[in-house]
Amino acid sequence: MSWRHNVSRRFTASTVVIALASGSVAAYQLVSVQDEIRIGREAQQEIRRQTPEVGDPLVREYVQTLGAALVGHADGADYPYTFSTADYRELNAFALPGGPVWINRGILDAATTEAQVAGVLAHEIAHIAERHSARQITKGTVANGLLGLLGAMIGDNGAGAAAARVAAGLTANSFMLKFSRDDERDADRQGVQILRGAGYDTRGLIEFMQVLDAQQGRAPGSVAQFLSTHPAPASRVRDLEQLVAANPGGGRRDSAAFGALKRRLAQLPAARQMPTR
Ligand SMILES: [Zn+2]
Repeated sequence: MSWRHNVSRRFTASTVVIALASGSVAAYQLVSVQDEIRIGREAQQEIRRQTPEVGDPLVREYVQTLGAALVGHADGADYPYTFSTADYRELNAFALPGGPVWINRGILDAATTEAQVAGVLAHEIAHIAERHSARQITKGTVANGLLGLLGAMIGDNGAGAAAARVAAGLTANSFMLKFSRDDERDADRQGVQILRGAGYDTRGLIEFMQVLDAQQGRAPGSVAQFLSTHPAPASRVRDLEQLVAANPGGGRRDSAAFGALKRRLAQLPAARQMPTR
């Protein structure tokens, strides 16, 4: 135990901001792959505590199997990727540093092909593989919750007790990263590569943008969070069309497992509404 444990959360976080502002190269090096994995693991424990997960084994296994198949085609470090499904009706997906990926059941309900779901997961995997959170920490634009965790881990020599305490005081939303436009384009670009590598129709991600658009017309609230953390679908579609046109070539769109998933989803009780804070 050290005196740092008694320092307020706010003070710990601002200490890190000052340290980061002093030099961007040093800040990037400050966040190693191991740091990312530790930050992500702490945040993941807290999100898991706060988030209702889909309990149905078929749904869980479907998402985990699809995610694992895509990860094999991602560049970058060998992160311990995990794929979790939140039992929320809204269309949302996000990545934590170092491996955890979340997808809301709303996306599975709205998707009409496996390639669309694969597109969403591939995009989130790309954020992790390309270390976008480390870049954000360098620029001081990282999500507050993650910054607090980083501060606690530095103050704690990585022991984790302080980080766990900080995490427990934060909402799941405060761990969600809002990436820059460049990072989003980068994630779409690598997402398309991952899709192609795994043998999927790369139009899946474009089609998912169209699903989002349609959903926005029907139920704007169900896509509000996704749209607040991602560029407008229309601009992504323009960029994606170029990426896909540059490397055309078919690919898988569906599977028997996707059909089974859709039938199971139709039998489950309705997903819950995401808390708005
Ligand atoms: Zn993104």
